[in-house]
Amino acid sequence: MIVQCPRCGKQAEMTGNPFRPFCSERCKTIDLGNWISGAFRIPEDQPEDGADDESRSRKDLKKE
Ligand SMILES: [Zn+2]
Repeated sequence: MIVQCPRCGKQAEMTGNPFRPFCSERCKTIDLGNWISGAFRIPEDQPEDGADDESRSRKDLKKE
């Protein structure tokens, strides 16, 4: 079974490919690295909003 590598778009064999759905270890590593840095960046962008929301709902809970 041939699939297109989501990283570089190259045609890659799926069967017996340890790096599927990528064509090679390099593409898998690059994509995983991008995903991890993206995942770390998202929560870093919104700690203020999240913390504010959390303390607000905690106050509401205490009032009750
Ligand atoms: Zn690739």
